Amino acid sequence: MPQIRGIIFDMDGTLVDSRLDYDAIRREMGLSEGMPILEGLERVPDGSQRDRMLEVIRAHELRGADEAVPIEGVLEFLSHLEERGVSSAVLTRNSRESTSRTLTRLNHSFSQIVTREDALPKPDPAGVHLIARRWGFPPHEMIVIGDYLFDIQAGRRAGARGILFAPGLRPDYANEADFVLQHFRDAVDLIDRMACLDEPIAQ
Ligand SMILES: [Mg+2]
Repeated sequence: MPQIRGIIFDMDGTLVDSRLDYDAIRREMGLSEGMPILEGLERVPDGSQRDRMLEVIRAHELRGADEAVPIEGVLEFLSHLEERGVSSAVLTRNSRESTSRTLTRLNHSFSQIVTREDALPKPDPAGVHLIARRWGFPPHEMIVIGDYLFDIQAGRRAGARGILFAPGLRPDYANEADFVLQHFRDAVDLIDRMACLDEPIAQ
């Protein structure tokens, strides 16, 4: 990998623990078990049912924003990146409203923030491409860090490397990521190791 010039973070479960209960959101929206929330919403035509579902999402996201706490080690890692001149961005499937409210918890200035109003949601790579265009350097000089499969897929489809943040049990999709991070205290060492690898990313 050449230089690492930017790191794109997922928000919920990666930067902050917002205690979002996705199963409860699905139940209240009337979605089947395991259905991704935004994709479930997309299947419903405009109208009162869709408006009600949007209100469910909004209520949960705003509650999550108010309860969000930084994940341990994240603030130190963000300051380290800032000192090294590595850009940091947020790419989230959340709304702009809940994202800006949540990020006030971190007291860190991200150079790019991309929400579902700005680009097709992950696992689509559009958000990563958008950040790459705004930063002015290519995805292969970036890393995407997230706690879910969609984060890793969005990064890889754009040509970035992916770090899966998995503080608990290693999920079965962990092998889709280039690396797995269990605690942010190890993040500096990990990106240093990644920067030493010169192999191009297998697409
Ligand atoms: Mg997440």
